[in-house]
Amino acid sequence: MYGHIVIAGGGQAAVQAVDTLRRKGFTGKLSMVGDEPWLPYQRPPLSKKYLAGALERERLLIRPAQFFPEHRIDAHLGRRVTAVAPRERHVRLDDGLVLPYDALVLATGSRPRRLPVLGADLAGVHYLRTLADADRIRAECTAGGRLLVIGGGYIGLEVAATARELGMEVTVLEMAERVMSRVTCPELSRFYEAEHARRGVRIRCHETVRALHEDRASGRVRAVLTEQGTEYPADVVIIGVGVAPADELARAAGVECENGVVTDVHCRT
Ligand SMILES: Cc1cc2nc3c(=O)[nH]c(=O)nc-3n(C[C@H](O)[C@H](O)[C@H](O)COP(=O)(O)OP(=O)(O)OC[C@H]3O[C@@H](n4cnc5c(N)ncnc54)[C@H](O)[C@@H]3O)c2cc1C
Repeated sequence: MYGHIVIAGGGQAAVQAVDTLRRKGFTGKLSMVGDEPWLPYQRPPLSKKYLAGALERERLLIRPAQFFPEHRIDAHLGRRVTAVAPRERHVRLDDGLVLPYDALVLATGSRPRRLPVLGADLAGVHYLRTLADADRIRAECTAGGRLLVIGGGYIGLEVAATARELGMEVTVLEMAERVMSRVTCPELSRFYEAEHARRGVRIRCHETVRALHEDRASGRVRAVLTEQGTEYPADVVIIGVGVAPADELARAAGVECENGVVTDVHCRT
C-alpha cells in the first residue's frame, strides 16, 4: 500500500484520480498540484454556456470546494511541478517545495497547439484552454464585432456558434476540404457546415493561414491573410488547431513519450 500519492496536474483526470482513490478505500496522503489558480473545473462549457455568459464560474467546478478537505486532499493550487526525481521519488514545485511520493500520477493534460505564423501573438488573438482564456475572449466578444476562427474542429466551431449567438459576425477558416475532417465522416461534416451556415456563420474551407496582420495604431490584429491570397478582416481571432500533450515533465524524468506518455494497460509508465 502506498503512503503518499502525488498528482501532478489539476484538471479532470486529477480530480477523477483522487476521487477514485478515496472511493476505493485509499487512506494514505493525497496531494494534488495544479498550476492554475482554481480548483479543478470543467472545460467543455468554456466554449459554450460559460462563454455565452449563461453559466456562473462556480458551476464549473467538478467537485465543490469542501470536497477536498473532506477527503483529506492537499490541493496545491497555482503551483507548478517543475521536476520529477524518479529515483529519489519526489517532485519539486515552483515555490521550492519538495513533495516525496510513493506513487506519482501524471495528469498534466494538454495545451493548445500554437500556430507558427507571423502575427499569431498579436493582441486580439486567442487560444481557448483555460478559464482565464475564456474570460479574456468573452471580454472581446461584442455584438457586431468580426470574429475570425482559425480551425474548423470542435473548439473552433463551438466558439463560432457561441459568438454568433452573441451577435458577432463570424468566419471560420479551415485548411482541409471540410470541417471536423479528423473526427467525422463527410456526411456529418456537411451537416455541421449547413447548420452553421443556417445560423449565419461563414465557413471557408481550403484556406491555410499565412499571417495575421496588425493594426499599427492599436497594436491589435486587423486581418488574417491566407496562402490562397484572401485577406479576412478581423477584430478578434480564435485559434483552434488542436492540442499537444503537456509531457515535458515526463520527458525530463526519462519517461517514454510518444504523442503523450506511453503506458501499459494499467496506465503505468
Ligand atoms: C473549450 C474546451 C471545450 C471542450 N469541450 C469538450 C466536450 O464538449 N467534450 C469532451 O469530451 N471534451 C471537451 N474538451 C476536452 C476536455 O476538457 C479535456 O479532454 C479534459 O480537460 C482533459 O482533462 P485532463 O485532466 O486530462 O487535462 P487538462 O484539462 O489539460 O488538465 C491538466 C491540468 O494540469 C495542469 N498542469 C500541466 N502541467 C502541470 C505541471 N507541471 N504542474 C502542475 N499543473 C500542471 C494544466 O495547467 C491543467 O490545469 C474541451 C476542452 C476545451 C478546452
